[in-house]
Amino acid sequence: MFEATLRYNSNSDKHPVGTSLEYLDSLLVPARMLAANAKALPSNLQNYVDDAGVNYYIDPSLTDFRVGDDFRDDSGSVRRWHWEYAEQVDPLLEELLTNQENLDASQLPDSHVETLTKASVAFQEGFVVTQLEEEVGKYDSLSDPDSYRPAAVIPWYHKIRTPSDIEVNDTILTAARDAASLPLKPCLFITKDILRSSTHLDQLISLLSENNIKQCFIWVENLDKHETGQHDYEHVARFVSDLADAGVSPHFYYGDYFATLLSHLGLDGTIYGSMYGEEDAERREQRGGGGVITRYYLDEVSDFVKIPAVVDVQQRVGAEMCECDVCERQFDSWQDLAALENDDDENIQTPMKKHHLRIRWRQIRQVESESLTDSLDRLESDYQEYVMPFSRSNQVADSKSLNYLPCWQNALEAVVSE
Ligand SMILES: [Zn+2]
Repeated sequence: MFEATLRYNSNSDKHPVGTSLEYLDSLLVPARMLAANAKALPSNLQNYVDDAGVNYYIDPSLTDFRVGDDFRDDSGSVRRWHWEYAEQVDPLLEELLTNQENLDASQLPDSHVETLTKASVAFQEGFVVTQLEEEVGKYDSLSDPDSYRPAAVIPWYHKIRTPSDIEVNDTILTAARDAASLPLKPCLFITKDILRSSTHLDQLISLLSENNIKQCFIWVENLDKHETGQHDYEHVARFVSDLADAGVSPHFYYGDYFATLLSHLGLDGTIYGSMYGEEDAERREQRGGGGVITRYYLDEVSDFVKIPAVVDVQQRVGAEMCECDVCERQFDSWQDLAALENDDDENIQTPMKKHHLRIRWRQIRQVESESLTDSLDRLESDYQEYVMPFSRSNQVADSKSLNYLPCWQNALEAVVSE
């Protein structure tokens, strides 16, 4: 079954997550968020397992320190969530973050890489259960603690741009194998560039097979549907297919509907955010203030679209209002959605997130149940129906096009016909 995993990285997602569990298989929680919410979050995760069978993974958070300064505040101090994580993981991490600006695995002695990798594995395997046991108290015990451990351990991962970066990840994987008792599910964090070389692809697959890895995440940096061409999509699709052929179960670390379509080529799951979180780059600089713009996930074009543009385009197409339980309860027509746009953040973000999670789930289950030809036929007919309304609507930014839809189709057809 194709695994639908939500990137749960903000406390503002608590309500959308808690009310959408039947539309999720699992969660990905950053280690820093867990360390900083050590009382509430483990017990929430326990409830999600007990109530809905939704389990979780922990993002190791060590990767956040490689470049940039977005984990520091204006005075240069490590921000609270990251610092609380450092305190939980290992004194070496505190020391390194105090004495140097960043933490790049390729610049550290192997002994440091091994220490931090093992400490990060121990955190993932034990932190939630330890917190739950403390909560239960010393006169009682937690029944079946193993059911509250993560589904797998994600070892610290180092961005791969060159073959020497593959060696760094090999050092990490070797240390993680020594330390872990749960299965490993490493993340290959790669650039589009490295996928253009078949030699490098073979090296990536060897990295996994030589470490006896059976499942992995793939994070292709900047796989943005508005900035990625057909050839890069082909390389990604080919890589997924090659991994599956090599007996490794690949999942996307960030994925949009292209990831869902890749289930036809052997992708076994994808992670996405409640709003956005379909692609990402390594962060470098501190982000300025101001929240994210709330957008509506438009099923037919598989993208987040500004609300006035959704309303205009859907009226031009003559589309019925979305039938998910959230939209059905809140909106009689697209005009009602337009009226909500001026509401305050919380009132609009929560239903928009819940709608997105329901639609992604429905897409995943539908694609899983049909043939590749059926999926691509639907993609093409949605494109034909929406391409003109999109280009005619003056609510849609001129720079936004739907070119990614035929790109996806062509890339999949090219790889399947090889
Ligand atoms: Zn809806």
